[in-house]
Amino acid sequence: MSRDHAIALAVQTLDSGRFATALARRVAYVTESEEPDAAAAALRAYLDEEMRPTLAGLGFTVLDIANPIDPRLPAIIAERIEDPSLPTVLLYGHGDVVRGHASQWRDGLAPYTLTDEGDRWYGRGTADNKGQHSVNLAALEAVLQAREGRLGFNVRVLLEMGEEAGSPGLREICQTHRDALAADLFIASDGPRVAAERPTLFLGSRGAINFTLTLQRRERGYHAGNWGGALANPAIEMAHAIASLVDANGRLAVAGLRPDSLPEAVRAALRDVPLGGGANDPAVDAHWGEPGLTPIERVIGWNDLEVLAMTAGTPGRPVGAIPGSATAWCQMRLVVGTDVNDVPHRVRAHLDAHGFSHVALEVGMRAPATRLDPTSPWVSWAMDAMAQALGQPITLLPNLGGSLPNDIFANDLGLPTLWVPHSYGACGQHAADEHMLKPVAREGLAMMAGLFWALGDTGDTVRQAHLRHAASSAHSPSQA
Ligand SMILES: [Zn+2]
Repeated sequence: MSRDHAIALAVQTLDSGRFATALARRVAYVTESEEPDAAAAALRAYLDEEMRPTLAGLGFTVLDIANPIDPRLPAIIAERIEDPSLPTVLLYGHGDVVRGHASQWRDGLAPYTLTDEGDRWYGRGTADNKGQHSVNLAALEAVLQAREGRLGFNVRVLLEMGEEAGSPGLREICQTHRDALAADLFIASDGPRVAAERPTLFLGSRGAINFTLTLQRRERGYHAGNWGGALANPAIEMAHAIASLVDANGRLAVAGLRPDSLPEAVRAALRDVPLGGGANDPAVDAHWGEPGLTPIERVIGWNDLEVLAMTAGTPGRPVGAIPGSATAWCQMRLVVGTDVNDVPHRVRAHLDAHGFSHVALEVGMRAPATRLDPTSPWVSWAMDAMAQALGQPITLLPNLGGSLPNDIFANDLGLPTLWVPHSYGACGQHAADEHMLKPVAREGLAMMAGLFWALGDTGDTVRQAHLRHAASSAHSPSQA
């Protein structure tokens, strides 16, 4: 009974072919949540035929959860309680996928057939997220076997089938089943590593908010020769409104929407993290963004406002007229410390103060930022357990640059959140030729077995240290 034995058992599931067999079965379910009617049977069957028997075999009690917002996107909550006094971890995954787009895949590949080629497994969901939660369940099984049927901690599992449709109902499910999801720690795997060869731990995600700026001057355009010079041009006014929000070097100019500072723990973690560098990555513009920060600090540790699209008149077929209106579709990404609900008021006040009261602001989707405090004892504990399992250092990413529904776990459920991605940037997630790298899956199995082993060994001590740390910190336990 040893940690090394547990890790060896986990890796053996890959070497023996068992992991690929299970993954092939799982990939074959056409669980496209963006097509909930066509996929309804598969969405149900993935849970009933794959997840339920797997979890029951590990000693879990499995509950079907009706989705209160969209009943076509079911979920399950499973629990395995050894002793209520032990620490409890909540694991999360999603069994739905984006559309297959079969015609875009390279010859010889098909989204719903697992294809084994070199060091890759191709198939829709291999990276996002079937392959990733399969790694975690296989590692859990290995630790259970190595510990002879006793983990030394309790486990709860939440699997949803609607993540790619924006997780409708997930928040309501978490609120309704708060007791069934109660835990000391949250661990999940989704998204990419910072690079394929760099095992990564991330602690949350940037938040996001979409908003549209519209300037409607007139119902239609007017001849530029007859009226130009006497009519305000909405395209020019919109350009100035945008320029007031972000300066010519990409620096956010809205008071209160720039973070106060970059936390030292975030700066320290990012010192060694690369940005881009892949074959298909663009060259970074060193002059762009907040002065005094490195490019990776600007992406991971700062707030950013982008114009995603803009229009006035008839682009592609310009006519000699002053356009009647102009529209810009904007998006802001933000870090912990900036309240996403504050953004519309700040932008509105800024526009008004700069003479753009006539620019209308309409807010779309929004998601708050989350980040477990990098100085939480859970973070160093996880980094150590993962590094020991692999015999190599782990990259700490304080949060993803992109966005995840992590606020539901971090804020609604109040959990410290650890994310261990088993994928990488070029995995074809949400595109053609999606794949999982076997070496990354192998390391994932080892790291997760190491984490689960450590949870049984030292979970209770770290849980208490985290609570003391959170109480002594001025911040909330789930945020830095
Ligand atoms: Zn996805």
